[in-house]
Amino acid sequence: MQHYLNYFDGQWRDASRQLAVINPATDKVFATVAQASIEDADAAMAAARRCVNSGALTDVRPAQRTAWLLKAAEAIREITEEGALILCRENGKNLQTAREEFDEAARYFEYYAGMADKIEGISVPLGKDYIDFTQYIPMGISVQIVPWNFPVSICARSLAPALAAGNAVVIKSPEVSPLGMVLLIKAIEKAGFPQGAVNLLCGKGSEVGTHLVTHQETNQIVFTGSVPTGQRILKDAAARATPSVMELGGKSAAIAFADVNLEQLLQSVKVGIFYNSGQVCSAMSRLLVQRSRYEEVKAAVVNLAESLTIGIGESNAELTPVVSKDQQQQILTMIEKARQEGANILTGGKAADLDGYFVLPTIIEATANMSIAQEEVFGPVQVIIPFEDEDEAVAIANGTDFGLVAGVFGENLNQTLRVANRLIAGQVFINEWFAGGIETPFGGVGLSGFGREKGQEAIYSYVQTRNIGIRLQHHA
Ligand code: NAD
Repeated sequence: MQHYLNYFDGQWRDASRQLAVINPATDKVFATVAQASIEDADAAMAAARRCVNSGALTDVRPAQRTAWLLKAAEAIREITEEGALILCRENGKNLQTAREEFDEAARYFEYYAGMADKIEGISVPLGKDYIDFTQYIPMGISVQIVPWNFPVSICARSLAPALAAGNAVVIKSPEVSPLGMVLLIKAIEKAGFPQGAVNLLCGKGSEVGTHLVTHQETNQIVFTGSVPTGQRILKDAAARATPSVMELGGKSAAIAFADVNLEQLLQSVKVGIFYNSGQVCSAMSRLLVQRSRYEEVKAAVVNLAESLTIGIGESNAELTPVVSKDQQQQILTMIEKARQEGANILTGGKAADLDGYFVLPTIIEATANMSIAQEEVFGPVQVIIPFEDEDEAVAIANGTDFGLVAGVFGENLNQTLRVANRLIAGQVFINEWFAGGIETPFGGVGLSGFGREKGQEAIYSYVQTRNIGIRLQHHA
């Protein structure tokens, strides 16, 4: 059975303990990964600190970082097929989605390569007696904690801008689905970053994760994951007032007005809630439909859910197993709770009659305050709710504690824009769910978190501002 290692201080290293990696399509262990210890975490932090102190990342011209990042992107593209297959096996996701993760990872490195030499400060006018300017300097050591749903692309999303800005990075991969990230880091190793600039540890969140978060050498925490873990990390981070970026969950709503183009909406529903079997923080987990089209849209969405191909990741089916037995149980429990609260399960609502951790594509008619319409499910489960007018649609869409993304669908651009302006979310899509890209800033408000990833803006999540004020001496 293949065994995978951790990477720190420029070397691949084993550990005395191992974590088993299970294929969600077969329920069988197919690989193991070294489980990092507290000592490993300390060694990774020490290596990152040596790298920061050496100036190896920051004494060079920024164009050198551009060159490293571009080499990393090239190396990532070379291992896409091999990486995608492993990611698909450990995660359950379909092969095409797994390939897209590696492609996106390479794009992050290319994109931030282009920014490494453009992190420019400003000059502040203070009158004739002063010169004043700002510098954007790296945070130092960026500790990055990654979830299992898109481990490769999310890892690259934070790692690339952090390196572009000149930080050393210590990454903690998730206990479930850590192998794709091992391949990612193997590729990045080929780029020749200075020793200690990139470190990867797979370990338990409650042990190595907590240790990294509370470590005295940690200068920044970048966390992507669930709300309860984010809240716990924020409490831990408070002890040292460590700056944090929090990319948390969502319960994002699409609003479909009466003039919606049904075909366009259905394409968006398909990717919005069934891509990656719904295990997407920005999933379209609520669909709000104007009353006059409600029955028609409802029937079409149910039909879509029932028409999806279901199978294991390697078969490239449209719906594949969810990541773990726990995740499957959690989803089914939430559906059962919805049933007890009186929600109407229109289709799905149970495990598929197949080996592996499948949950059938599920559409649930609910009211806005039911738990299934308020809490993140993180599976192929969409809630559908009718509304009368703009005000009601906005009230329902904004009526959760989350605020990650939202969407508006309709032909009337005035109406879609008017409504977009009222939505409380970090990103609003009009007429295409996921209309953004790696170039567009992404992040939440409310319980969805704070700080931004992606786009030019994200580079400023990885720097701190230093202002230099100079008093001029004048000749008498
Ligand atoms: P999770 O919170 O269970 O785990 C995320 C990571 O945190 C894992 O690496 C885990 O080991 C680690 N961790 C757990 N406890 C920790 C602790 N006390 N200290 C430090 N680290 C700890 O999340 P998950 O189940 O892996 O991912 C699913 C969640 O992630 C969903 O809620 C989803 O919405 C969210 N998510 C958000 C985004 C975004 O960009 N906003 C993207 C993807 C996923």
